Amino acid sequence: MLRLHPYEYHMPRALDEALSLLATHGDDAMPIAGGTDLVPNMKHGLFTPGHLVALGRVREMRGIASTGDEIRIGAAETLTSVATHPDVLAQVPGLARAAELVSGPQLRRVGTIGGNVCLDTRCAYYNQTKFWRKALGYCLKKDGDVCHVVKGGTRCVAAHSADTPPVLAVLDAVLEVADGADGDRTRDVSIRQFFTSDGIWNRSIGSSELVVAIRIPRPPPGTQVAFQKLRPRAAIDFPLANLAVRVGREDDGRVSDFRLVVSAMGAYPRHVGKVEDAALGNRLGPSVIEAVAEQAFRQCHPLSNITVDPEWRRAMIPVLVRRALNEIAAA
Ligand SMILES: Cc1cc2nc3c(=O)[nH]c(=O)nc-3n(C[C@H](O)[C@H](O)[C@H](O)COP(=O)(O)OP(=O)(O)OC[C@H]3O[C@@H](n4cnc5c(N)ncnc54)[C@H](O)[C@@H]3O)c2cc1C
Ligand code: SF4
Repeated sequence: MLRLHPYEYHMPRALDEALSLLATHGDDAMPIAGGTDLVPNMKHGLFTPGHLVALGRVREMRGIASTGDEIRIGAAETLTSVATHPDVLAQVPGLARAAELVSGPQLRRVGTIGGNVCLDTRCAYYNQTKFWRKALGYCLKKDGDVCHVVKGGTRCVAAHSADTPPVLAVLDAVLEVADGADGDRTRDVSIRQFFTSDGIWNRSIGSSELVVAIRIPRPPPGTQVAFQKLRPRAAIDFPLANLAVRVGREDDGRVSDFRLVVSAMGAYPRHVGKVEDAALGNRLGPSVIEAVAEQAFRQCHPLSNITVDPEWRRAMIPVLVRRALNEIAAA
């Protein structure tokens, strides 16, 4: 049986209290929201914080509210709340869809959107027991000095494996980030700037900082967002690949706005460039969809950081793009 190490569990009710706990205990503290990712990782000895700061009762991190211009989602809201909230369904249904496809119902009821955005990267050589990792000589991300995915590699390329960030990225979401070490100041970080290419810690925020809420600007009328996910089973499994597409169209049906973000390849969700060249100014017919799918295939190169054939995952990228764009074209 995998056991947890001893730790102290703090349950603050206010943001300043949570930030102060994180600042006081420094590297020996970690925030915990639903714990659906952190707890298994602690059981594997990947994190051994002496203090856990629970976010579920922090009032500033709760609630979903929409104004005319944007929708604000508290980071401690569960994925089920996000997937079923009437304002999310009405204004950003693509986000509700991505939240609805995370894992299975039980985990969505406790797993939060903040935890999903801050999810640790995953790798076939990392998400293993300590015994297993030790037998292999560990790796760069934890306790070792080699990468088993890229032989001779000096950077960790563990896979960003969360489902909501690609949709948040095409929607230009902004994260409210608070830092206890900096006088409880809250700053806005664009989701585009939030992730880094470092699979060891792929967030541009430090361990004493918290994502308090996510704000999503209301997309212009007519904007459509589709989300597609590849996984072995229709529930529970992490993505082998996922993507979000955003399409805006003129009254005559010509595409005026086009974005594609893919993830579960490397350490961060990536905007796929050049695909918009095939779409902008054209109607979303079969030839345009095929051109975008081909361009996406050329630009996506999954790695063997997941235990499923990277060539097959690559071959599925144009399939996911076609599914997403056909869904939009048919709507
Ligand atoms: C069997 C299984 C299947 C899964 N399948 C999927 C899947 O298909 N897709 C998917 O996306 N995920 C999946 N997950 C991962 C996880 O359940 C979800 O990503 C969930 O949203 C994580 O949220 P949480 O609140 O439980 O995060 P936690 O486990 O509490 O935290 C995750 C990380 O984020 C940090 N953190 C949490 N909240 C904040 C915050 N507000 N500010 C700063 N840091 C924070 C924590 O310190 C920790 O490092 C799966 C997990 C399991 C166990
Ligand atoms: S990508 Fe390399 S360094 Fe990163 S977790 Fe996997 S094996 Fe370790």
